[in-house]
Amino acid sequence: MKKILFVTSEAYPLIKTGGLADVCSSLPKALTELGQDVKVILPKYPALKTVGDVRFLCSLRIDNHLVSIFETMIPDSPVVAWLVDCPDLFDLAGNPYVDELGVPWANNADRFALFCRVAVEVAMDKVNRNWKPDIVHCNDWQSGLVPALLSMERDRPKTVFTIHNMAYQGLFPMQSVRSLNLPGQLMNPNGLEFHGLLSFIKGGIVYADRITTVSPTYALEIQTPEYGYGLEGLLAYRSDDLIGIINGIDTNEWNPEIDPHIPQHYNVDSLSKKQLNKAELQRRVNLPVNDQVPLFGLISRLVEQKGIDMVIDCLPDMVELPMQLVLLGNGNKTFEQRLQNLARLFPDKIVIIIDYDESLAHLIEAGVDVFLMPSRFEPCGLNQMYSQRYGTIPVVRKTGGLADTVVDTLSTSLADDSATGIVFKEAHAGALLEAFKRTTLLYSDQQIWQQIQTNAMHRDFSWRNSAKQYLELYHNI
Ligand code: ADP
Repeated sequence: MKKILFVTSEAYPLIKTGGLADVCSSLPKALTELGQDVKVILPKYPALKTVGDVRFLCSLRIDNHLVSIFETMIPDSPVVAWLVDCPDLFDLAGNPYVDELGVPWANNADRFALFCRVAVEVAMDKVNRNWKPDIVHCNDWQSGLVPALLSMERDRPKTVFTIHNMAYQGLFPMQSVRSLNLPGQLMNPNGLEFHGLLSFIKGGIVYADRITTVSPTYALEIQTPEYGYGLEGLLAYRSDDLIGIINGIDTNEWNPEIDPHIPQHYNVDSLSKKQLNKAELQRRVNLPVNDQVPLFGLISRLVEQKGIDMVIDCLPDMVELPMQLVLLGNGNKTFEQRLQNLARLFPDKIVIIIDYDESLAHLIEAGVDVFLMPSRFEPCGLNQMYSQRYGTIPVVRKTGGLADTVVDTLSTSLADDSATGIVFKEAHAGALLEAFKRTTLLYSDQQIWQQIQTNAMHRDFSWRNSAKQYLELYHNI
Protein backbone atom coordinates (compact mmCIF):
# COMPACT_ATOMS: atom_id res chain seq x y z
CA MET A 1 0.00 0.00 0.00
CA LYS A 2 1.26 3.45 -0.91
CA LYS A 3 0.67 6.62 1.06
CA ILE A 4 -0.21 9.33 -1.45
CA LEU A 5 -0.59 13.04 -0.81
CA PHE A 6 -2.67 14.65 -3.53
CA VAL A 7 -1.95 18.38 -3.88
CA THR A 8 -4.60 20.39 -5.71
CA SER A 9 -6.29 23.78 -5.79
CA GLU A 10 -9.77 22.27 -6.28
CA ALA A 11 -11.64 19.02 -5.59
CA TYR A 12 -15.29 18.28 -6.38
CA PRO A 13 -17.69 18.81 -4.64
CA LEU A 14 -15.77 20.99 -2.19
CA ILE A 15 -14.83 23.51 -4.87
CA LYS A 16 -14.85 23.27 -8.64
CA THR A 17 -14.11 25.52 -11.58
CA GLY A 18 -13.36 22.80 -14.12
CA GLY A 19 -12.27 19.26 -14.89
CA LEU A 20 -9.33 19.50 -12.48
CA ALA A 21 -11.79 19.32 -9.58
CA ASP A 22 -13.43 16.19 -10.95
CA VAL A 23 -10.11 14.41 -11.38
CA CYS A 24 -8.86 15.44 -7.95
CA SER A 25 -11.73 13.76 -6.17
CA SER A 26 -12.40 10.83 -8.50
CA LEU A 27 -8.79 9.64 -8.78
CA PRO A 28 -8.18 9.69 -5.00
CA LYS A 29 -11.44 7.78 -4.57
CA ALA A 30 -10.45 5.19 -7.17
CA LEU A 31 -6.98 4.81 -5.65
CA THR A 32 -8.56 4.34 -2.22
CA GLU A 33 -10.77 1.62 -3.68
CA LEU A 34 -7.57 -0.02 -4.95
CA GLY A 35 -6.38 -0.15 -1.33
CA GLN A 36 -4.13 2.92 -1.23
CA ASP A 37 -3.90 5.45 1.60
CA VAL A 38 -4.69 8.81 -0.03
CA LYS A 39 -5.11 12.27 1.43
CA VAL A 40 -5.98 15.38 -0.57
CA ILE A 41 -4.64 18.77 0.45
CA LEU A 42 -6.18 22.01 -0.80
CA PRO A 43 -6.67 25.62 0.32
CA LYS A 44 -9.54 26.45 2.64
CA TYR A 45 -11.37 29.03 0.53
CA PRO A 46 -14.49 30.63 2.03
CA ALA A 47 -16.47 29.20 -0.92
CA LEU A 48 -15.57 25.63 0.07
CA LYS A 49 -18.70 23.47 0.43
CA THR A 50 -17.82 21.12 3.23
CA VAL A 51 -20.31 18.60 4.57
CA GLY A 52 -20.14 17.33 8.15
CA ASP A 53 -17.17 17.58 10.47
CA VAL A 54 -14.33 20.00 9.86
CA ARG A 55 -11.86 19.54 12.66
CA PHE A 56 -8.74 21.47 13.55
CA LEU A 57 -5.55 19.43 13.13
CA CYS A 58 -2.60 21.72 13.76
CA SER A 59 -1.17 25.11 13.09
CA LEU A 60 2.18 26.27 11.79
CA ARG A 61 3.94 29.50 10.95
CA ILE A 62 5.30 30.22 7.47
CA ASP A 63 7.16 33.54 7.40
CA ASN A 64 4.70 35.95 8.98
CA HIS A 65 1.62 33.89 8.10
CA LEU A 66 -0.18 31.85 10.68
CA VAL A 67 -1.54 28.74 8.98
CA SER A 68 -4.02 26.20 10.33
CA ILE A 69 -4.73 22.81 8.87
CA PHE A 70 -8.21 21.35 9.18
CA GLU A 71 -9.42 17.86 8.37
CA THR A 72 -12.67 16.92 6.68
CA MET A 73 -13.90 14.26 4.27
CA ILE A 74 -14.47 14.73 0.57
CA PRO A 75 -18.27 14.41 0.66
CA ASP A 76 -19.65 10.99 -0.37
CA SER A 77 -16.23 9.41 -0.32
CA PRO A 78 -13.84 7.67 2.04
CA VAL A 79 -11.12 10.21 1.22
CA VAL A 80 -9.69 12.59 3.84
CA ALA A 81 -9.08 16.18 2.80
CA TRP A 82 -6.67 18.47 4.61
CA LEU A 83 -7.62 22.11 4.29
CA VAL A 84 -4.94 24.77 4.45
CA ASP A 85 -6.32 27.83 6.17
CA CYS A 86 -4.50 31.10 5.91
CA PRO A 87 -7.16 33.79 6.23
CA ASP A 88 -4.93 36.70 5.26
CA LEU A 89 -4.37 35.06 1.83
CA PHE A 90 -7.32 32.80 1.17
CA ASP A 91 -10.17 34.78 2.64
CA LEU A 92 -11.45 35.92 -0.78
CA ALA A 93 -15.06 35.13 -1.63
CA GLY A 94 -15.99 33.47 -4.91
CA ASN A 95 -13.68 31.93 -7.48
CA PRO A 96 -10.33 30.55 -6.25
CA TYR A 97 -8.29 32.31 -8.94
CA VAL A 98 -10.09 35.38 -10.25
CA ASP A 99 -12.33 38.19 -9.02
CA GLU A 100 -15.89 38.73 -10.22
CA LEU A 101 -14.60 40.48 -13.36
CA GLY A 102 -12.41 37.52 -14.24
CA VAL A 103 -9.19 39.33 -13.26
CA PRO A 104 -6.70 37.10 -11.40
CA TRP A 105 -6.40 37.93 -7.70
CA ALA A 106 -3.44 40.28 -7.34
CA ASN A 107 -1.74 38.10 -4.74
CA ASN A 108 -2.07 34.73 -6.51
CA ALA A 109 1.70 34.17 -6.48
CA ASP A 110 1.74 34.63 -2.69
CA ARG A 111 -1.37 32.55 -2.19
CA PHE A 112 -0.22 29.49 -4.07
CA ALA A 113 3.44 29.76 -3.05
CA LEU A 114 2.30 29.64 0.56
CA PHE A 115 -0.01 26.72 -0.22
CA CYS A 116 2.93 24.86 -1.82
CA ARG A 117 5.18 25.53 1.14
CA VAL A 118 2.55 24.15 3.52
CA ALA A 119 2.13 21.08 1.30
CA VAL A 120 5.90 20.51 1.53
CA GLU A 121 5.77 20.73 5.34
CA VAL A 122 3.00 18.15 5.31
CA ALA A 123 4.83 15.96 2.79
CA MET A 124 7.91 15.89 5.04
CA ASP A 125 5.64 15.31 8.07
CA LYS A 126 7.00 18.41 9.75
CA VAL A 127 3.47 18.90 11.05
CA ASN A 128 3.84 15.75 13.17
CA ARG A 129 0.79 13.88 11.95
CA ASN A 130 2.81 10.67 11.89
CA TRP A 131 1.92 10.32 8.23
CA LYS A 132 4.64 10.70 5.62
CA PRO A 133 3.58 10.02 2.05
CA ASP A 134 5.55 7.81 -0.34
CA ILE A 135 4.24 9.81 -3.28
CA VAL A 136 3.29 13.46 -3.56
CA HIS A 137 1.04 13.86 -6.56
CA CYS A 138 0.78 17.51 -7.66
CA ASN A 139 -1.71 18.98 -10.09
CA ASP A 140 -1.30 22.02 -12.32
CA TRP A 141 0.66 25.20 -11.69
CA GLN A 142 -0.90 26.01 -8.33
CA SER A 143 1.03 23.06 -6.89
CA GLY A 144 4.08 23.44 -9.16
CA LEU A 145 6.47 24.70 -6.49
CA VAL A 146 6.02 21.52 -4.46
CA PRO A 147 8.30 19.26 -6.57
CA ALA A 148 10.84 22.10 -6.79
CA LEU A 149 10.94 22.65 -3.03
CA LEU A 150 10.87 18.94 -2.25
CA SER A 151 13.85 18.37 -4.58
CA MET A 152 15.94 20.15 -1.96
CA GLU A 153 14.88 17.90 0.91
CA ARG A 154 16.69 14.78 2.03
CA ASP A 155 14.72 11.58 2.40
CA ARG A 156 11.84 13.05 0.46
CA PRO A 157 8.79 11.37 -1.05
CA LYS A 158 8.76 10.80 -4.81
CA THR A 159 6.91 13.38 -6.84
CA VAL A 160 4.46 13.20 -9.73
CA PHE A 161 3.26 16.31 -11.53
CA THR A 162 0.11 16.15 -13.64
CA ILE A 163 -0.54 18.75 -16.31
CA HIS A 164 -4.28 19.22 -16.75
CA ASN A 165 -3.85 22.20 -19.06
CA MET A 166 -0.60 23.67 -20.43
CA ALA A 167 -2.35 26.97 -21.16
CA TYR A 168 -2.30 27.90 -17.48
CA GLN A 169 1.29 28.18 -16.27
CA GLY A 170 1.31 30.45 -13.25
CA LEU A 171 3.67 33.10 -14.64
CA PHE A 172 4.52 36.04 -12.39
CA PRO A 173 7.01 38.92 -12.40
CA MET A 174 10.35 37.97 -10.87
CA GLN A 175 9.85 40.74 -8.28
CA SER A 176 7.18 38.58 -6.64
CA VAL A 177 9.90 36.09 -5.76
CA ARG A 178 11.31 38.20 -2.99
CA SER A 179 8.14 38.16 -0.96
CA LEU A 180 7.72 34.41 -1.61
CA ASN A 181 11.00 33.52 0.07
CA LEU A 182 11.92 30.86 -2.45
CA PRO A 183 15.45 29.43 -2.41
CA GLY A 184 17.80 31.33 -4.74
CA GLN A 185 19.12 28.07 -6.26
CA LEU A 186 15.78 27.53 -7.99
CA MET A 187 15.81 30.92 -9.71
CA ASN A 188 17.57 30.31 -13.00
CA PRO A 189 16.53 29.33 -16.53
CA ASN A 190 17.16 25.66 -15.72
CA GLY A 191 14.84 26.03 -12.76
CA LEU A 192 11.79 28.20 -12.18
CA GLU A 193 12.74 31.08 -14.44
CA PHE A 194 10.97 31.39 -17.80
CA HIS A 195 12.04 34.31 -20.01
CA GLY A 196 12.58 36.53 -17.02
CA LEU A 197 9.38 35.45 -15.29
CA LEU A 198 8.75 33.11 -12.40
CA SER A 199 6.98 30.00 -13.72
CA PHE A 200 5.10 27.82 -11.25
CA ILE A 201 4.46 25.09 -13.82
CA LYS A 202 8.21 24.72 -14.44
CA GLY A 203 8.56 23.70 -10.82
CA GLY A 204 6.60 20.60 -11.72
CA ILE A 205 8.03 19.98 -15.17
CA VAL A 206 11.69 20.43 -14.21
CA TYR A 207 11.74 18.84 -10.76
CA ALA A 208 9.04 16.15 -10.54
CA ASP A 209 10.24 12.55 -10.77
CA ARG A 210 7.49 11.81 -13.27
CA ILE A 211 5.24 14.05 -15.34
CA THR A 212 1.86 12.97 -16.53
CA THR A 213 -0.82 14.59 -18.57
CA VAL A 214 -4.41 13.62 -19.04
CA SER A 215 -4.40 11.89 -22.41
CA PRO A 216 -1.82 10.11 -24.59
CA THR A 217 -2.46 12.44 -27.55
CA TYR A 218 -2.04 15.57 -25.39
CA ALA A 219 1.24 14.14 -24.04
CA LEU A 220 2.55 14.21 -27.62
CA GLU A 221 0.92 17.52 -28.54
CA ILE A 222 2.54 19.47 -25.69
CA GLN A 223 5.96 18.53 -27.06
CA THR A 224 5.18 20.68 -30.13
CA PRO A 225 5.24 24.50 -30.41
CA GLU A 226 1.51 24.70 -31.14
CA TYR A 227 0.54 23.28 -27.74
CA GLY A 228 3.70 23.66 -25.64
CA TYR A 229 3.66 27.45 -25.05
CA GLY A 230 7.43 27.63 -25.15
CA LEU A 231 7.94 24.63 -22.86
CA GLU A 232 7.81 22.06 -25.70
CA GLY A 233 11.60 21.69 -25.70
CA LEU A 234 11.74 21.02 -21.98
CA LEU A 235 8.86 18.56 -22.24
CA ALA A 236 10.53 16.76 -25.15
CA TYR A 237 13.74 16.63 -23.10
CA ARG A 238 11.79 14.94 -20.31
CA SER A 239 9.77 12.71 -22.63
CA ASP A 240 11.13 9.51 -21.01
CA ASP A 241 9.47 10.60 -17.77
CA LEU A 242 6.29 11.91 -19.39
CA ILE A 243 3.19 9.81 -19.99
CA GLY A 244 -0.44 10.46 -20.85
CA ILE A 245 -3.14 8.71 -18.84
CA ILE A 246 -6.70 9.38 -19.86
CA ASN A 247 -9.01 10.64 -17.11
CA GLY A 248 -11.87 8.46 -16.07
CA ILE A 249 -15.28 9.82 -15.17
CA ASP A 250 -17.30 9.44 -12.00
CA THR A 251 -19.63 6.70 -13.14
CA ASN A 252 -21.95 7.11 -10.13
CA GLU A 253 -22.33 10.83 -10.59
CA TRP A 254 -22.85 10.38 -14.34
CA ASN A 255 -25.16 7.39 -14.70
CA PRO A 256 -28.42 7.68 -16.65
CA GLU A 257 -29.84 4.73 -14.69
CA ILE A 258 -29.79 6.56 -11.35
CA ASP A 259 -29.11 10.23 -12.12
CA PRO A 260 -31.24 12.26 -9.66
CA HIS A 261 -31.19 15.30 -11.94
CA ILE A 262 -33.14 13.72 -14.80
CA PRO A 263 -36.86 12.88 -14.87
CA GLN A 264 -36.54 9.61 -16.80
CA HIS A 265 -33.89 7.00 -16.06
CA TYR A 266 -32.73 4.76 -18.89
CA ASN A 267 -29.97 2.46 -20.05
CA VAL A 268 -28.75 0.94 -23.26
CA ASP A 269 -31.71 -1.47 -23.32
CA SER A 270 -34.31 1.24 -22.85
CA LEU A 271 -32.84 3.93 -25.07
CA SER A 272 -36.23 5.05 -26.32
CA LYS A 273 -36.94 6.52 -22.86
CA LYS A 274 -34.19 9.09 -23.49
CA GLN A 275 -36.85 10.93 -25.55
CA LEU A 276 -38.71 11.84 -22.36
CA ASN A 277 -35.67 13.68 -21.09
CA LYS A 278 -35.44 15.45 -24.44
CA ALA A 279 -39.05 16.62 -24.14
CA GLU A 280 -38.49 17.74 -20.54
CA LEU A 281 -35.38 19.67 -21.53
CA GLN A 282 -37.19 21.33 -24.45
CA ARG A 283 -39.99 22.35 -22.08
CA ARG A 284 -37.59 23.54 -19.41
CA VAL A 285 -35.68 25.85 -21.77
CA ASN A 286 -38.70 26.95 -23.83
CA LEU A 287 -37.87 25.27 -27.11
CA PRO A 288 -40.66 23.73 -29.21
CA VAL A 289 -41.20 20.17 -27.96
CA ASN A 290 -40.33 18.04 -30.96
CA ASP A 291 -38.86 14.55 -30.94
CA GLN A 292 -37.91 14.57 -34.64
CA VAL A 293 -35.54 17.51 -34.69
CA PRO A 294 -31.90 16.83 -33.68
CA LEU A 295 -31.24 18.63 -30.41
CA PHE A 296 -27.63 19.76 -29.89
CA GLY A 297 -26.08 20.58 -26.53
CA LEU A 298 -22.95 22.37 -25.41
CA ILE A 299 -21.79 22.86 -21.80
CA SER A 300 -18.57 24.70 -21.33
CA ARG A 301 -16.50 27.54 -20.10
CA LEU A 302 -17.00 30.10 -22.86
CA VAL A 303 -13.39 30.62 -23.87
CA GLU A 304 -11.47 30.40 -27.11
CA GLN A 305 -9.96 27.04 -26.13
CA LYS A 306 -13.40 25.48 -26.44
CA GLY A 307 -13.91 26.67 -30.03
CA ILE A 308 -16.87 28.85 -29.05
CA ASP A 309 -15.92 31.36 -31.77
CA MET A 310 -16.27 28.57 -34.35
CA VAL A 311 -19.73 27.73 -33.04
CA ILE A 312 -20.76 31.39 -33.23
CA ASP A 313 -19.48 31.64 -36.81
CA CYS A 314 -21.34 28.46 -37.83
CA LEU A 315 -24.66 29.05 -36.15
CA PRO A 316 -26.24 31.27 -38.84
CA ASP A 317 -25.63 28.40 -41.31
CA MET A 318 -26.63 25.66 -38.88
CA VAL A 319 -30.06 27.15 -38.26
CA GLU A 320 -30.83 26.70 -41.97
CA LEU A 321 -31.11 22.98 -41.22
CA PRO A 322 -33.56 21.34 -38.84
CA MET A 323 -31.88 21.65 -35.44
CA GLN A 324 -32.13 23.03 -31.95
CA LEU A 325 -29.28 24.02 -29.63
CA VAL A 326 -29.10 24.39 -25.86
CA LEU A 327 -25.88 26.00 -24.72
CA LEU A 328 -24.99 26.29 -21.03
CA GLY A 329 -21.87 28.15 -20.03
CA ASN A 330 -20.20 31.30 -18.89
CA GLY A 331 -16.90 33.08 -19.33
CA ASN A 332 -15.79 35.52 -22.00
CA LYS A 333 -18.26 38.44 -22.05
CA THR A 334 -17.98 39.00 -25.81
CA PHE A 335 -18.84 35.36 -26.50
CA GLU A 336 -21.75 35.59 -24.05
CA GLN A 337 -23.09 38.67 -25.85
CA ARG A 338 -22.72 37.28 -29.37
CA LEU A 339 -24.41 34.03 -28.38
CA GLN A 340 -27.29 35.84 -26.72
CA ASN A 341 -27.75 37.96 -29.84
CA LEU A 342 -28.06 34.80 -31.93
CA ALA A 343 -30.56 33.34 -29.46
CA ARG A 344 -32.69 36.48 -29.84
CA LEU A 345 -32.59 36.11 -33.64
CA PHE A 346 -33.57 32.43 -33.59
CA PRO A 347 -35.61 31.86 -30.41
CA ASP A 348 -37.18 28.65 -31.77
CA LYS A 349 -33.80 27.10 -32.39
CA ILE A 350 -31.18 28.48 -30.04
CA VAL A 351 -31.27 28.81 -26.27
CA ILE A 352 -28.28 30.27 -24.42
CA ILE A 353 -28.09 29.95 -20.66
CA ILE A 354 -25.32 32.02 -19.14
CA ASP A 355 -24.83 30.23 -15.86
CA TYR A 356 -22.98 27.49 -14.08
CA ASP A 357 -25.56 24.82 -13.25
CA GLU A 358 -24.54 21.25 -12.40
CA SER A 359 -28.08 19.98 -12.32
CA LEU A 360 -29.05 21.42 -15.70
CA ALA A 361 -25.79 20.03 -17.09
CA HIS A 362 -27.07 16.53 -16.25
CA LEU A 363 -30.44 17.14 -17.90
CA ILE A 364 -28.70 18.46 -21.02
CA GLU A 365 -26.48 15.37 -21.23
CA ALA A 366 -29.54 13.15 -20.91
CA GLY A 367 -31.86 15.22 -23.09
CA VAL A 368 -29.85 16.20 -26.15
CA ASP A 369 -29.10 13.98 -29.13
CA VAL A 370 -25.71 15.47 -29.95
CA PHE A 371 -23.04 17.14 -27.83
CA LEU A 372 -20.72 19.71 -29.44
CA MET A 373 -17.07 19.90 -28.38
CA PRO A 374 -15.14 21.66 -31.14
CA SER A 375 -12.16 22.48 -28.88
CA ARG A 376 -9.00 24.04 -30.32
CA PHE A 377 -7.16 21.97 -27.76
CA GLU A 378 -8.49 19.63 -25.11
CA PRO A 379 -6.08 17.98 -22.67
CA CYS A 380 -8.69 15.31 -21.85
CA GLY A 381 -12.22 16.69 -21.72
CA LEU A 382 -14.98 15.06 -19.71
CA ASN A 383 -18.23 15.89 -21.41
CA GLN A 384 -17.51 13.77 -24.48
CA MET A 385 -17.27 10.78 -22.11
CA TYR A 386 -20.38 11.74 -20.11
CA SER A 387 -22.16 12.10 -23.44
CA GLN A 388 -21.27 8.62 -24.64
CA ARG A 389 -22.48 7.15 -21.37
CA TYR A 390 -25.80 8.95 -21.87
CA GLY A 391 -26.22 7.78 -25.47
CA THR A 392 -25.58 11.34 -26.62
CA ILE A 393 -23.38 11.47 -29.68
CA PRO A 394 -20.33 13.73 -29.36
CA VAL A 395 -19.11 15.88 -32.24
CA VAL A 396 -15.48 16.62 -31.45
CA ARG A 397 -12.35 18.07 -32.94
CA LYS A 398 -9.52 15.56 -33.31
CA THR A 399 -7.28 16.83 -30.55
CA GLY A 400 -5.99 15.68 -27.15
CA GLY A 401 -8.35 13.51 -25.14
CA LEU A 402 -11.14 13.99 -27.66
CA ALA A 403 -9.03 12.15 -30.24
CA ASP A 404 -8.37 9.37 -27.72
CA THR A 405 -11.95 8.78 -26.57
CA VAL A 406 -14.25 9.31 -29.56
CA VAL A 407 -14.22 7.01 -32.59
CA ASP A 408 -15.36 8.68 -35.80
CA THR A 409 -18.31 7.17 -37.65
CA LEU A 410 -17.03 5.70 -40.92
CA SER A 411 -18.10 2.64 -42.86
CA THR A 412 -15.29 0.66 -41.21
CA SER A 413 -16.10 1.76 -37.66
CA LEU A 414 -19.79 1.09 -38.24
CA ALA A 415 -18.93 -2.37 -39.51
CA ASP A 416 -16.93 -3.30 -36.40
CA ASP A 417 -19.24 -1.50 -33.94
CA SER A 418 -16.56 0.92 -32.78
CA ALA A 419 -18.12 4.16 -34.06
CA THR A 420 -19.17 6.41 -31.16
CA GLY A 421 -19.20 9.96 -32.54
CA ILE A 422 -18.29 12.43 -35.24
CA VAL A 423 -14.70 13.63 -35.42
CA PHE A 424 -13.36 16.51 -37.52
CA LYS A 425 -9.82 17.74 -37.99
CA GLU A 426 -9.36 21.41 -38.85
CA ALA A 427 -9.92 24.16 -36.28
CA HIS A 428 -12.15 26.38 -38.38
CA ALA A 429 -15.86 27.04 -38.72
CA GLY A 430 -16.09 25.41 -42.16
CA ALA A 431 -14.88 22.07 -40.81
CA LEU A 432 -17.31 22.29 -37.90
CA LEU A 433 -20.16 23.04 -40.29
CA GLU A 434 -19.26 19.98 -42.41
CA ALA A 435 -19.25 17.84 -39.26
CA PHE A 436 -22.60 19.33 -38.28
CA LYS A 437 -24.08 18.43 -41.67
CA ARG A 438 -22.64 14.92 -41.47
CA THR A 439 -24.26 14.59 -38.04
CA THR A 440 -27.73 15.62 -39.18
CA LEU A 441 -27.46 13.18 -42.07
CA LEU A 442 -26.57 10.33 -39.72
CA TYR A 443 -29.37 11.37 -37.38
CA SER A 444 -31.89 11.05 -40.18
CA ASP A 445 -31.14 7.31 -40.34
CA GLN A 446 -32.44 6.24 -36.93
CA GLN A 447 -31.14 2.70 -37.29
CA ILE A 448 -27.55 3.83 -37.74
CA TRP A 449 -28.01 6.48 -35.06
CA GLN A 450 -29.13 3.89 -32.54
CA GLN A 451 -26.19 1.72 -33.42
CA ILE A 452 -23.78 4.58 -32.68
CA GLN A 453 -25.63 5.31 -29.42
CA THR A 454 -25.37 1.67 -28.39
CA ASN A 455 -21.65 1.52 -29.19
CA ALA A 456 -21.11 4.71 -27.18
CA MET A 457 -23.05 3.46 -24.16
CA HIS A 458 -21.04 0.26 -24.07
CA ARG A 459 -17.73 2.12 -23.64
CA ASP A 460 -16.10 1.87 -20.20
CA PHE A 461 -14.79 5.27 -19.04
CA SER A 462 -14.60 4.41 -15.34
CA TRP A 463 -11.65 5.50 -13.23
CA ARG A 464 -10.63 1.97 -12.42
CA ASN A 465 -8.46 1.50 -15.53
CA SER A 466 -6.82 4.89 -15.25
CA ALA A 467 -6.25 4.58 -11.50
CA LYS A 468 -4.44 1.30 -12.15
CA GLN A 469 -2.15 3.07 -14.60
CA TYR A 470 -1.33 5.73 -12.00
CA LEU A 471 -0.66 3.04 -9.43
CA GLU A 472 1.71 1.31 -11.80
CA LEU A 473 3.47 4.63 -12.33
CA TYR A 474 3.83 5.17 -8.55
CA HIS A 475 5.33 1.70 -8.22
CA ASN A 476 7.77 2.30 -11.09
CA ILE A 477 9.29 5.52 -9.76
P1 ADP B 1 -12.26 22.22 -18.50
O1 ADP B 1 -11.67 21.61 -17.28
O2 ADP B 1 -11.26 22.68 -19.52
O3 ADP B 1 -13.28 23.28 -18.20
P2 ADP B 1 -13.49 19.61 -18.92
O4 ADP B 1 -14.34 19.07 -20.04
O5 ADP B 1 -12.31 18.79 -18.53
O6 ADP B 1 -13.10 21.10 -19.30
O7 ADP B 1 -14.40 19.75 -17.64
C1 ADP B 1 -15.42 20.70 -17.57
C2 ADP B 1 -16.38 20.28 -16.48
O8 ADP B 1 -17.09 21.42 -16.02
C3 ADP B 1 -17.43 19.32 -16.97
O9 ADP B 1 -17.79 18.48 -15.91
C4 ADP B 1 -18.57 20.26 -17.39
O10 ADP B 1 -19.82 19.64 -17.38
C5 ADP B 1 -18.48 21.31 -16.31
N1 ADP B 1 -19.00 22.61 -16.71
C6 ADP B 1 -18.40 23.56 -17.46
N2 ADP B 1 -19.19 24.65 -17.58
C7 ADP B 1 -20.32 24.37 -16.91
C8 ADP B 1 -21.55 25.10 -16.66
N3 ADP B 1 -21.73 26.32 -17.14
N4 ADP B 1 -22.49 24.50 -15.91
C9 ADP B 1 -22.30 23.27 -15.42
N5 ADP B 1 -21.20 22.53 -15.61
C10 ADP B 1 -20.21 23.07 -16.35
